[in-house]
Amino acid sequence: MTPGTLYGVGVGPGDPELMTLKAARALGIADVVLIDELVSRGCLAHARSDARLVEVGKRGGCASTPQEFIERVMILHARQGKVVARLKGGDPFVFGRGGEEMRALIAAGIEVEVIPGITAGIGVPATLGIPVTHRSFARAVTFVTAHTKDGAEPNWTTLVRSGATLVIYMGIARLAHIVRELSAAGMSASMPACIVENGTLGNQREVIGTLASLPRDAKQLGSPAIIVIGEVVRLAARKTSSGSVPELRVA
Ligand code: SAH
Repeated sequence: MTPGTLYGVGVGPGDPELMTLKAARALGIADVVLIDELVSRGCLAHARSDARLVEVGKRGGCASTPQEFIERVMILHARQGKVVARLKGGDPFVFGRGGEEMRALIAAGIEVEVIPGITAGIGVPATLGIPVTHRSFARAVTFVTAHTKDGAEPNWTTLVRSGATLVIYMGIARLAHIVRELSAAGMSASMPACIVENGTLGNQREVIGTLASLPRDAKQLGSPAIIVIGEVVRLAARKTSSGSVPELRVA
């Protein structure tokens, strides 16, 4: 039997309307759909009614399905000639273990197609009108994770010196530590910063402050949250989410 295909699909940061047309199309032909915890259930409206849906949560700190098990399930179904869609929040290659999974599937002889998605680090600040780069404020942006496999730390001094906007994923639990490190590396306590929880979703909440206020601000919010630090946060304005765009009818 010819092996099926694995689609590694990024579904965007939350709002199901931020999925790409290609993501919706891949989902619409999938026999088996593996769903990460951060995937909005609204995205599943594009799945076939007879598709097999498998939840494989992978949220930091909580019980989650082991990575090897997820890979085995995908390989098993694909080897049976099925079309498998692996749905991930945001973009599959941004802190999503998409790279690891893709290698495992390719090594097993399965055809893989990656469908990029809007990563939370760009799509979520956009809801507040925060551009991650801006000619007057930041010529670069760095995506940082505060949650690493081996406990390794980013080089905070290099990050601060670069002047890049810092977008921190999975950082809320380690925020006091991050703020200490950034301050020690020379970042001003008054550097604009914000935290956004459940970005792009109806229950989005945010706190806009400064580097110094971040640890206190974080106490008001929970996970998933993205932290943006840099001059661009000065531009934070009103909600600019897509509420006014007429809904697209999906056939
Ligand atoms: N692949 C994903 C990131 C996975 S890591 C992407 O490209 O967006 C999970 C982290 O992403 C969360 O801990 C949080 O920091 C961030 N995140 C994902 N969705 C989010 C949302 N709707 N609002 C705020 N942060 C979010």
